[in-house]
Amino acid sequence: MKILIVEDERRVVNFLQKGLKNEDNQVDIAEDAATAEKLVCENDYNFILLDWMLPDKSGLELCRGWRAENITVPIIVLTARDATKDIVTALDSGADDYIVKPFSFSELLARMRALQRRAAENNNNNELTIEDLTLNIHRREAVRGDTIIYLSTREFALLEFLMQNKGNVISKAKISEHVWGFAFETRTNLIEVYINHLRNKLNCGSKTPLIHTVKGAGYVMKNFETEIK
Ligand code: CA
Repeated sequence: MKILIVEDERRVVNFLQKGLKNEDNQVDIAEDAATAEKLVCENDYNFILLDWMLPDKSGLELCRGWRAENITVPIIVLTARDATKDIVTALDSGADDYIVKPFSFSELLARMRALQRRAAENNNNNELTIEDLTLNIHRREAVRGDTIIYLSTREFALLEFLMQNKGNVISKAKISEHVWGFAFETRTNLIEVYINHLRNKLNCGSKTPLIHTVKGAGYVMKNFETEIK
């Protein structure tokens, strides 16, 4: 993992740096808020360990600023303050967790693992996958292999609906109700047109098809190996 330590106390920096490097992490150090802001602008970190009292700005101010910019990296605040109101202030500033100095390194690692698990669960809830295709609902992004696929709002809704029902055959009537909000006349070929657009985009040239037509019944998205239910 790539971790940023924002801390002006040398002794604490050394203790953290040594421990985190032993765990095979890549570690950057910022001894003041200005350096931290610059590093966060230029790098993608998996974690930030953030001291509350910094020489040029409060760590919580930094935290609020990053959250306002939609920077979602997990942040643990390190501080000597242990009053309940201080903990509440830190968490309300957008920190994910809080650890009171002096702390043991094993406790810090355990808290980091807990945050990682939570982050992974959130990611899973936001993502639908079939084979090498991933749809990120939160970021409104479709990726197949290494290729980002640009979809219109309607194409995205259609793909999301098919992927949510992975492995099940979905009728055109269901698609029109769910994606367009009303039932089309059966003779319309609008859904076929959209399905073809989607297929072309998802196939990225020569990839294996993921959307299959089930004659007289509708469409199904499935893994290559799965039987149609
Ligand atoms: Ca400090």
